[in-house]
Amino acid sequence: MRIFEEFAQISAFCTDKSHGNFADYVGDDATSLEERRDSFAGKQKIVLLKQVHGDKIMEIKSGGIEPNGAFWFGGEADGMVSREAGLTLAIQSADCAGVLLYDGQNGAVAALHAGRKGAQLNIIDKCAAKMQKLYGTDTTKLKMYVGAHIRGCCYELPGEMAAEFEIYEEAVTTRDGKSYLDIGKVLYSQAKALGIQNENIEISPSCSSCESEKYFSYRAEEGKCGRMLTAIGLKAI
Ligand SMILES: [Zn+2]
Repeated sequence: MRIFEEFAQISAFCTDKSHGNFADYVGDDATSLEERRDSFAGKQKIVLLKQVHGDKIMEIKSGGIEPNGAFWFGGEADGMVSREAGLTLAIQSADCAGVLLYDGQNGAVAALHAGRKGAQLNIIDKCAAKMQKLYGTDTTKLKMYVGAHIRGCCYELPGEMAAEFEIYEEAVTTRDGKSYLDIGKVLYSQAKALGIQNENIEISPSCSSCESEKYFSYRAEEGKCGRMLTAIGLKAI
């Protein structure tokens, strides 16, 4: 991702289908999953959450996480913040957006799970407030990356659900009497409301459902699919 490239202290990545599934709740064979996690992680401490479509944000420290095979478990939440080097905060998704934030002034990172619910709860705003409180983050200086997710071309939802997002510019479109939501547009508006600058926002243009050959897509694959990782961490020195 372009937006973090200039920062040598940051390690950020997204996986796709070519890397395989990394979630342990989608019926994947436990042994092959563990082998895949182990070979992918190498020396990285990859921290996952039990994501529940909420807006709880946890501060992650190495003393507060538990080993979970080759990966680490941070707790039940949908967002993580940290200022500790050597931890890789990873969001699992298939159609939902993985969102990464970086505060270069205070050396803090965040990873968020934003599907319809997370976007509705404005998890970005909750996270920014937490970073402000914990680290003194100036939200107008944040950098944000949003990974591949389901876009307005494919994300049909009931009109009354879509209506909740009409406050966000261009987030809801209607075609043939059906409503479609673009989560990326919601996240963009929420980031702008925090004062994040245009040049500090990068949103993957890919739709996970249109490009389900490359990305896991819960909708396109009718719920039977793996999960990708969208992750960020401060490199251990
Ligand atoms: Zn699409």
